[in-house]
Amino acid sequence: MSFEDYHGVWVFLEVRDGQIAPVSLELLGAGRQLADKRHTELAGVIIGEGVRQLAGTAFEYGADQVYVYDAPIYRHYRTETFMKALFACTHKYKPEIILFGATTTGKDLASAVATDLPTGLTADTTMLDVEEDTGLLLASRPAFGGNIMATILCKKYRPQMATVRPKVMKALTPEPGRTGVVVEESIPLQEDEVRTKVLEIVRETAKKVKIDEADIIVAGGKGLGSAAGFELIHQLADVMGAAVGASRDVVEAGWIGHHHQVGQTGVTVTPKIYFAIGISGAIQHIVGMQNSGLIIAINKDPAAAIFQNCHYGIVGDAFEIVPMLIAELKQA
Ligand code: FAD
Repeated sequence: MSFEDYHGVWVFLEVRDGQIAPVSLELLGAGRQLADKRHTELAGVIIGEGVRQLAGTAFEYGADQVYVYDAPIYRHYRTETFMKALFACTHKYKPEIILFGATTTGKDLASAVATDLPTGLTADTTMLDVEEDTGLLLASRPAFGGNIMATILCKKYRPQMATVRPKVMKALTPEPGRTGVVVEESIPLQEDEVRTKVLEIVRETAKKVKIDEADIIVAGGKGLGSAAGFELIHQLADVMGAAVGASRDVVEAGWIGHHHQVGQTGVTVTPKIYFAIGISGAIQHIVGMQNSGLIIAINKDPAAAIFQNCHYGIVGDAFEIVPMLIAELKQA
């Protein structure tokens, strides 16, 4: 099979609560630029139950075509069912590039599909470009603790795949009424052939904002002293409609779940505002939040490393400063 047989840029359109996830709309914006440079089409792939009607949104955000797998078997995300559908579609139409959001679902699906094809996958990309003449995808991401940008190439295989961090690409301004081609697809897959069953979906408390897509994150560290002390972080987050982040030590202490952990072994976040409260500023934490727009640190130790990595630093006791901040914000 020659590389010439591969055409088009695809975006896996993740569906959350009946809508295309913001990161997928951002990727349509990025994918549009790549497709235009290669003089090729931009397609979305959408898998789910009752998702066909979402194709219109994808067209408004830049897609020319949408491949749809719409069946009850896809009601909930399961690696096996989604992977089989996307694998079949990829084999049939041979895209040159496939982009996924670097979300829990996107990372899981992309790695499963890349392994089965097999092809290369660049994870957690923050910059994308393509060589106009060869179609080689230039997928760049921070490496070595954020000290360099590494551009990773997949020279031997097609399609080229990448997961892309939420909030780094820009969605296009939607063009109401823009249309495209819907291609309905299916594979012969029966429920009794699928090894995993979804028994129950347990949602995290509805009021919580997703950390990897939040504009504001209030993160707390061991300096809060206890699970009860960490409540202060939730209170400040609530008044600002922010997501709650945490250091690894807080997660290990059981004050909050792992998916709130920011850093090397947690999530990488790029909110507009990041509060680091009672966090010492270990390098493993810094690599996960250093690209935030504005970093505000509160720590009672003036020598804490976090003060080398923030835009504004307040030296003081979190239990004095945060309540004052909450009171001010409530009045605003
Ligand atoms: P501490 O280092 O204990 O800091 C607490 C801070 O609170 C101190 O600076 C103190 O001055 C301040 N403080 C105390 N009381 C108050 C008060 N009343 N008001 C204000 N400030 C106060 N860490 C992560 O966060 N994320 C990761 O993904 C991660 N991955 C890791 C991976 C590896 C392989 C390793 C080895 C470590 C990793 N770590 C990670 C752990 C990291 O090295 C640090 O141990 C951790 O980040 C420290 O958490 P902390 O800042 O909450 O706690």
